[in-house]
Amino acid sequence: TERTLILVKPDGVQRGLSGEILRRIEAKGYTLVAVELRQATPELLEQHYEEHVGKPFYEPLVEFMLSGPTLAIVAQGERVIEGFRSLAGVTDPTTAAPGTIRGDLGRQWPTKVLQNLVHGSDSEESAAREIGIWFPGLA
Ligand code: ATP
Repeated sequence: TERTLILVKPDGVQRGLSGEILRRIEAKGYTLVAVELRQATPELLEQHYEEHVGKPFYEPLVEFMLSGPTLAIVAQGERVIEGFRSLAGVTDPTTAAPGTIRGDLGRQWPTKVLQNLVHGSDSEESAAREIGIWFPGLA
């Protein structure tokens, strides 16, 4: 079966939503392989967000991701990569569907970056790459 990297971003941890988000992952039937509260660093974020380096929202994104701890999760299950993205909802919480993490729990913030509670890998290739960045021991 597949594995994916999930992050509860600093807005989710700060708002006390880690448990609710873990609950939704487990309720869907996925297995938790690793869960760790981590303070991101600029170096780690540059690797994680390598495709976004140089984009207008990159600096605000890094500042947001450094604003507090992140809960890093590796979850496993049948088609978990696509399945978690569907649990999360679309990137912008203002239009994410009800029933999704971003749709139910996301708020609109007056900031330059979309504070959208979670990240989930978008392909098998990025899952392997991102698990290697956050959990080198698991890769
Ligand atoms: P994620 O990868 O976080 O699960 P995603 O694949 O929908 O969601 P990406 O396009 O990879 O999002 O962007 C990474 C993150 O950068 C987003 O989750 C959001 O926090 C922020 N972001 C993306 N696009 C924008 C934008 N146009 N303006 C502000 N912030 C953005």
